[in-house]
Amino acid sequence: MKKLALHWKIIIAMFLGIIWSFLSGKLGLAQFTADWIDPFGTIFINCLKFIAIPLVMFSIITGIATIGKETNLGRMGARTMGLYVFTTMFAITTGLTVVNLFKPGVIKDETKRLENRLEYEIWANENGVKIADGRNLLATADSSVVAKVNASWNAKKSSDEYAEMMEKSSSSSAAFEDRGPLQPLVDLIPENLILSLSDGNLMLQVIFFAMFFGFSSRFLPAHQARPMINFFEAVNETFIKMVQLVMKAAPFFVFCLMAGVLTKKAGSAEELLQQLADLGYYSLVVVIGLLFALFVFYPTLMRVFGVKIPYGKFFREMSPAMILAFSSSSSAAALPVTIDCVENRLKVPKKITDLVLPIGATLNMDGTSLYQAVAVIFLAQYHDVDLTLIQQLGIIITATLASFGAAAVPGAGLIMLIMVLSSLGLNPMWIALISPVDRLLDMCRTVNNVVSDAVVAIIINRMEEKQVKVIPPEEY
Ligand code: ASP
Repeated sequence: MKKLALHWKIIIAMFLGIIWSFLSGKLGLAQFTADWIDPFGTIFINCLKFIAIPLVMFSIITGIATIGKETNLGRMGARTMGLYVFTTMFAITTGLTVVNLFKPGVIKDETKRLENRLEYEIWANENGVKIADGRNLLATADSSVVAKVNASWNAKKSSDEYAEMMEKSSSSSAAFEDRGPLQPLVDLIPENLILSLSDGNLMLQVIFFAMFFGFSSRFLPAHQARPMINFFEAVNETFIKMVQLVMKAAPFFVFCLMAGVLTKKAGSAEELLQQLADLGYYSLVVVIGLLFALFVFYPTLMRVFGVKIPYGKFFREMSPAMILAFSSSSSAAALPVTIDCVENRLKVPKKITDLVLPIGATLNMDGTSLYQAVAVIFLAQYHDVDLTLIQQLGIIITATLASFGAAAVPGAGLIMLIMVLSSLGLNPMWIALISPVDRLLDMCRTVNNVVSDAVVAIIINRMEEKQVKVIPPEEY
């Protein structure tokens, strides 16, 4: 057991956690799991989350403060952002391709299909929304069918579930309305640093502060700058050590996390399997897209950029971060481990990881954007809405923005889907249809979110290898 590498232990623990969640339902141990196992999963995630923000802050400050003058930071930043946008757009295209190829939402039963369609048209008329494909089936449909759909739609609208969804959707669309073109820039600047540090969703503000602070420290005379940077470097190293210590117990924690999440979410293994059966084909299509990106696109991209790391090694060294992303569904919680894997196991210099990974964890979400593309088209197919090629290409833009804007926490991608649906004139409430399987798909897409950050960090390292230098302490 001692010889077994950490990642194997974590993989085994993850499977044991899954098995446990199945058994606990059968043996009536769900309450025991909730009381005595699940809290350790929460403790684990909290440990990583409280480490993530100061780790990001101090690593960026020291990174910017000590980077050599010959390094073109602007160019490195532009390359990083360029790659992030490129991988995200490619992921969306992959999602659009698989969903159009497999058509998981097309319903064979014609009556059901018509009913879904009419419900959409009724909703659009009520809300003054232009019907996405311009067809008008209400005008020609049998009046008894229209009456039936009307009745079921009215019943649906008065349900509690609908009211809850309405609230969710209006609060999140309020966040997008009335936003001027410069709002993203305004959002980047902290109003109060302490508030930014205390809100996990404001990581970008922390990154901005750290960059500005690190940059400003370069104007100080050496006798002032050096002790401060030495101190920050030591703090930073201590945080990394904390991650490594927490990770020593990762197999135990991952077991608790998996067992807790699955038991809590599904109630019982049967329910989980039932949900999967209902939305199985759709889920499968999402997973096919994610696997394609993971095992075909990223390895190819790394080859194209001349990265020499063998695939087997890449996935082996990344596996702790991947499993953590899977079990926590949060790239922010996985970030400290991602940094540790890319820096200490894949040997990408700290100068690169410090800058590229925190930005990636907050902005770059290939898995989320791929999933959004599949989900939108699935929902349109399910309601018999034919989106044109141009509309589908528009999804590339909106899903890119939606994934950039999504917080790195569980379920954020589903909420941002509201924005993508609304932009096409589709009913944002449809997210209720796919929410039963959202947690499982969230686990899968978060793995891609984390892997794509690592891939970009490795490519940037390859591109900037010779240029990035650190100022040696004696020259400071
Ligand atoms: N859970 C994802 C993440 O943290 C975001 C999402 O797609 O919901 O990366």
